Amino acid sequence: MDTGLQLYNTLTRKKEIFEPLNAPHVGMYVCGPTVYSDVHLGNCRTFISFDLIFRYLKYSGYKVRYVRNITDAGHLEGDRDEGDDKFAKRAKLEQLEPMEIVQKYTLGFHDVLRMFNTLPPSIEPTATGHIIEQIEMIKEIISNGYAYEKNGTVYFDVEKYSKEYNYTILTNRNMEDMLANTRELGGQDEKRGRLDFALWIKAKPETIMRWASPWGEGFPGWHIECSAMSAKYLGEEFDIHGGGMDLAATHHTNEIAQSEACNHKQPAKYWMHTNMLTVNGTRMSKTLGNGFLPEQLFKGEHVLLAKGFSPMTVKFFMLQAHYRSTLDFSNEALDASEKGFRRLMNAISLMDKLSPSASSDFQIGPIMDNCVKAMNDDFNSPVVIAELFEAVRIINTVYDGKGSISAEELDQLKKLMKDFVFDIFGLKDEDSSNIELNSVLDMVIDLRKTAKENKDYATSDKIRLGLQSMGIQLKDSKEGTTWNKA
Ligand code: AMP
Ligand code: ZN
Repeated sequence: MDTGLQLYNTLTRKKEIFEPLNAPHVGMYVCGPTVYSDVHLGNCRTFISFDLIFRYLKYSGYKVRYVRNITDAGHLEGDRDEGDDKFAKRAKLEQLEPMEIVQKYTLGFHDVLRMFNTLPPSIEPTATGHIIEQIEMIKEIISNGYAYEKNGTVYFDVEKYSKEYNYTILTNRNMEDMLANTRELGGQDEKRGRLDFALWIKAKPETIMRWASPWGEGFPGWHIECSAMSAKYLGEEFDIHGGGMDLAATHHTNEIAQSEACNHKQPAKYWMHTNMLTVNGTRMSKTLGNGFLPEQLFKGEHVLLAKGFSPMTVKFFMLQAHYRSTLDFSNEALDASEKGFRRLMNAISLMDKLSPSASSDFQIGPIMDNCVKAMNDDFNSPVVIAELFEAVRIINTVYDGKGSISAEELDQLKKLMKDFVFDIFGLKDEDSSNIELNSVLDMVIDLRKTAKENKDYATSDKIRLGLQSMGIQLKDSKEGTTWNKA
């Protein structure tokens, strides 16, 4: 099955024709969030990019199993197993159970991605739900001779592994340089080599999230969870593994090493990495304090923000950049995206008002072809957007009576917008969804009024409580009933 799709493979450092191992099936694994705090907009960019990829693969006819995990255990502050456990630290700060932290921020993550209208993955496994699989994988790596236990902690033996395999295959770094540039870190006295990393970490007396294992009570390392869960749901070899670019050097490098040491196979055929969202040229991150939350952006509540921007404006802003380019946040750029997005939505709403003519001044086929070509060229969404604005120009010209379009071409135009704007980009008209909600609620409020007039209080209460459970609050006053979102 050749759909003409080419994608950039970090592993080979070039664009390649996409040939899934078992077409039309595609297995895609993306590293999900570490749910110890709110996701910032940078994290969202990565998940929005993979949502675009997921949607386009499906549009192209592939049957995609998209696995995106939730990291809810084992992520220490440093990527090389140093520092405190992120969950334990946060739990102490908020005076909650670590699992309450996990629950709170998992829900928050889902809420944010829903606002961005991203599709849920096919499977969303958690690290804590797959401790047995991780232990089994560690046992196999030890029995293959690539890991060793020391005082209840199990380390991956990078030196031993790199005698037979290329440890830096993903980023093409020089091993000698890496050794020279790696600091001495915690657990160094237990490690045989400086680059060794933990597969299983011995619990301290105060550790709350702990599990029994052949090496005593402890918890899994961050890297092993993705190797274990991707293999469980997608097999030892699958098609696409993705994540943010910052994960390639350590997390993904270690994932490849673990999978090869366990299964003697490269886990993924294609490795895809999304580039970073930056603020004034610096990567957006929680620790730097430049990582504002989506909620702050929507409401305009941050010193860096001149005003609030809606979720679809923000998503459109992100789609205007290619996923492998950095994207710098600025109020001016978002302002421009807001105008652009409105222009696009306005044109779409005009399409139904156009009356077709017998002949056509415009051909939509070439625009459609260019959009497909752009997406097939490593998911080039900015080029698609430029093509969509050509379609906007056509709509406005016909609407102004300065050109004509045939019924056939108008149908093509509608299909173009449906496919690319709504199905592939996952955009939606925020205003019209409010208009729909408004009119539905007007009707419901009217039904409740009639029920009350008929003294049918059971029905009127049912309506009020039902809306309340959906987060919609009704307020009765002399003037009538109004509603607001709680
Ligand atoms: P984390 O919750 O820190 O494990 O990150 C979740 C995902 O967000 C990972 O794939 C990161 O690579 C990605 N990420 C983190 N910061 C940024 C950023 N500034 N821009 C884009 N992606 C990011
Ligand atoms: Zn991962």
